[in-house]
Amino acid sequence: MRKNIVAGNWKMNLEFTEAEELTAGVAEQLEGQALNCEVVICPPALYLEMATDFAEESVLKVGAQNVSNHDSGAYTGEIAAGMLASVDVKYCIVGHSERRKYFHEDNALLAQKVDKLLDYGRTPIYCCGEVLEEREKENHFKVVEQQIAEGLFHLNEDEFSNVVIAYEPVWAIGTGLTASPVQAQGMHAFIRGLIAKKYSKEVAEETTLLYGGSCNANNAKELFSQRDVDGGLIGGASLKAGEFVSIVKSF
Ligand code: PEP
Repeated sequence: MRKNIVAGNWKMNLEFTEAEELTAGVAEQLEGQALNCEVVICPPALYLEMATDFAEESVLKVGAQNVSNHDSGAYTGEIAAGMLASVDVKYCIVGHSERRKYFHEDNALLAQKVDKLLDYGRTPIYCCGEVLEEREKENHFKVVEQQIAEGLFHLNEDEFSNVVIAYEPVWAIGTGLTASPVQAQGMHAFIRGLIAKKYSKEVAEETTLLYGGSCNANNAKELFSQRDVDGGLIGGASLKAGEFVSIVKSF
């Protein structure tokens, strides 16, 4: 179901006490507020259970940053979708550009990760987006189409309806460069069109599409006001409770 979501991707930041303080800070500042979006925090795996404990008592939902493509077994260092489910982690980022780049995750592997999450009733936040060179060569639509087709379009309509997509132009991640509202809207409308073609217009209208890439308290309102932008995946600006909550309140 299409809904507004603001999700914070903490990446590999913060020690335990800081993570606990940030979670508590966000939860406290949101308490009793009328919100127009779902709020998700995605801390490092080690802190997920701490976060889900907070989530029980607040509006917060919790997401992981990665998941294994296997169910269980001899995969040292990995975390399975069933494990995420067992501590009530509802979302999981899949295919973040940092995982594509540094851990060589390709669309075929990401499709398997998506499947595992859906098997265990978790919601994948599937990331796509072009690098600067691809945009400069005007290949960005083609690149995003391939990422989505290969990572998601093996799903049937029911399965697909449980997926959230985050468009994150790689040149805008952590750089301070943001896609303009027009650029973000253009890509989001394109993605919705792909979904309509593959499934149906109704399915496309019901899909949640997030924007990510240097989104902050100053630019969130304009980005989120675009017709096809249903919220954001927030990196750096999710590490300060006050700024993250301001972004949440941009809706
Ligand atoms: C991200 O890593 O998902 C992200 C959007 O980062 P930032 O907001 O820091 O650009």
